[in-house]
Amino acid sequence: PPPFDPADPLGIDELLDEDDLAVRAATRRWARERVLPHIAEWYERGEVPGLRELARELGALGALGMSLKGYGCAGASAVQYGLVCLELEAADSGIRSLVSVQGSLAMYAIHRYGSEEQRRHWLPAMASGETIGCFALTEPDHGSDPAGMRTRAERDGGDWLLTGRKMWITNGSLAGVAVVWAGTDDGVRGFLVPAGLPGFTATPIRHKGSLRASVTSELVLDGVRLPADAVLPEARGLRAPLGALSHARYGITWGALGAARSCFETALGYARVREQFGRPIGGFQLTQAKLADMAVELHKGLLLALHLGRRLDAGRLRPEQVSFGKLNNVREALEICRTARTVLGANGISMEYPVLRHMANLESVLTYEGTSEMHQLVIGKALTGLDAFR
Ligand code: FAD
Repeated sequence: PPPFDPADPLGIDELLDEDDLAVRAATRRWARERVLPHIAEWYERGEVPGLRELARELGALGALGMSLKGYGCAGASAVQYGLVCLELEAADSGIRSLVSVQGSLAMYAIHRYGSEEQRRHWLPAMASGETIGCFALTEPDHGSDPAGMRTRAERDGGDWLLTGRKMWITNGSLAGVAVVWAGTDDGVRGFLVPAGLPGFTATPIRHKGSLRASVTSELVLDGVRLPADAVLPEARGLRAPLGALSHARYGITWGALGAARSCFETALGYARVREQFGRPIGGFQLTQAKLADMAVELHKGLLLALHLGRRLDAGRLRPEQVSFGKLNNVREALEICRTARTVLGANGISMEYPVLRHMANLESVLTYEGTSEMHQLVIGKALTGLDAFR
């Protein structure tokens, strides 16, 4: 057998083809050059200068709406999209969040549920990063239970009037178009709301202790007047936003492991050189147990992500299977980051190292796109046939 590679102990790279490896290498290079040198500072400041330029570069990389077909999208495989999510999140979950929301939520919703005209109008500019999108489902009083949403769209002659509030919306203040979900007499529908319409405001949420290199906003819709063709014709009921969320969660299954990999590598490097009691702390059994457990969970998680990606590429991925991936990989990635934090001792809380930043970011990732508890309930329902949501 080939020699043991600490970076790929299970030989998972052998399961990837040349194109997969090329996409991964290009994304890794971009993240190392464009994000890593600055991310600690951006994170502390709570803003990313030049974010629109970064979005255009991500568009040029093909990372936006990456696995969608046509309309300027790369049409890549789900596995390649996953690898990109991982490499971006190894830099920061905030950058991966931008890409997830743009591609898997906003663009996916337009691609899957939009009219031909809507696709042609929005998708090429979104694929290039020229136009940024957001996806507004959550409200101040309705997170895990979006069915209770209060945002309403009422008919006014041929137009729609949209009123309500959306909370915790990634990319909200950057977005040229918001995909807003609202209740109608016909159930939940999706609306394309261009930025700048009278009555529509997006305000950044300040004082976040997590995902500080990501824009998160509150949206207020105060009688926003939309033409009849602003509605996504194929989206009816909550199944539509949940379909897009399932795609984004798949990407997160990979992405979270990027944050975990960064923390694992940091801990491994640190453990080799940091000496206490006259020798490297990596030589103590307790530290080795931590490193071994971290490596086991990281690479098990990768196998799971790859398995789900292959199923998605074959058109055989079920939402319950995505819940396995999101629940396990985010939970384990967070555990890896917390363990890495202990290996670094006091340095573990310093922003000189990426560990605390990744750890704090993953607290958001654990909650958004369906909390861990929601994914446990999804799996629990699938196993028992009993609905424990309410
Ligand atoms: P709640 O639903 O109030 O849940 C609170 C706790 O109660 C959780 O632990 C939950 O699991 C638990 N709980 C709730 N119901 C049950 C139950 N039946 N059984 C057991 N436990 C239960 N939303 C968007 O629409 N678009 C975005 O772009 C977006 N970006 C986000 C970015 C960030 C940084 C964050 C933090 C959130 C973002 N969200 C976004 C919102 C996110 O999806 C919600 O926060 C999430 O769905 C949880 O909703 P909530 O915060 O209202 O928590």
